[in-house]
Amino acid sequence: MIVVMERGASEEQIRHMVERVEGLGLKSHVIQGTERTVIAAIGEKREEMKQRLEVGSGVAEVVPILAPYKVASREVKPDPTQVVAGSLVAGAGRTAVIAGPCSVESEEQIISAAKAVKAAGANALRGGAFKPRTSPYSFQGMKEEGLKLLAAARQETGLAVVTEVMSTDDVDLVASYADVLQIGARNMQNYRLLEAVGNTDRAVLLKRGASATMDELLLAAEYILNEGNPNVMLCERGIRTFEAHTRFTLPLASVAYLQHKTHLPVIIDPSHGTGHTYLVPSMAGAAVAAGADGLIIEVHPDPERAMSDGYQSLNFEQFNETMTRCRKIAQALGREL
Ligand code: PEP
Ligand code: MN
Repeated sequence: MIVVMERGASEEQIRHMVERVEGLGLKSHVIQGTERTVIAAIGEKREEMKQRLEVGSGVAEVVPILAPYKVASREVKPDPTQVVAGSLVAGAGRTAVIAGPCSVESEEQIISAAKAVKAAGANALRGGAFKPRTSPYSFQGMKEEGLKLLAAARQETGLAVVTEVMSTDDVDLVASYADVLQIGARNMQNYRLLEAVGNTDRAVLLKRGASATMDELLLAAEYILNEGNPNVMLCERGIRTFEAHTRFTLPLASVAYLQHKTHLPVIIDPSHGTGHTYLVPSMAGAAVAAGADGLIIEVHPDPERAMSDGYQSLNFEQFNETMTRCRKIAQALGREL
């Protein structure tokens, strides 16, 4: 249920209603909107609860939340959420660009990538130190050594660092180096991991599972929000379909759909979404045209020699051109990029 407070309800009235909600055995999330404050009351609902809350002082109305996800829904929070993590700002009119290699491979590689993507206008650096690889014989990432190199790249450029955490065992370690914790597609429904990142003070980039529905993605985000971490970005990175011309099928309708259903920023990954370098610039532009709140793009100093995902990575020149293209599209829509 949502307890909608009257316009101008006092702090005292809000605090009182939070106590009433919790007294009924429900969890409360206070959301301060531009218009008014609402208190999301989450938990098992019983009929008499609505009446009990409705009579509270300063309460305008109590309405049910129809969506299966609650804190993530637009019903609860009509205003878009802006996620800020160091140099990265996404949502509420700001389009973030996260760029860098699939994997951190060496100091020279990550520092040169960080400098190049920053010069081209990226707001954050990506790079995997813990890599979820389909084969156990593929490069698994540099682990903590890679995290240290990412921190050095941040030091050098000022770019926020986005990197994946694969296991609950590593959450504290990765959080001590990263600005944004990435939950990869393969882990979207690892609920213990979602709870663990929900208990950190780091922003989270939650990637859609390759066969997950939109509701499943939003319910995965709900696990993180429910732990009290409001800084969640959703990432469409393509889904598995019968189509084999692209690595995955990238549904850009996800941008409009998700922005309709949730206040959380929506980031598009045209690299994994297509799996081919030559398709990335067009789909990056299309994502910006669709109103995405950000892009995450794989960029490598020498894609031919990359230890992972070279075939879908842009070189520095290609990234520069992609940024120029995306900036023009953003400008036409009156958005900043
Ligand atoms: C990645 O970002 O390099 C990655 C492994 O992505 P995904 O989890 O979307 O496959
Ligand atoms: Mn990759």
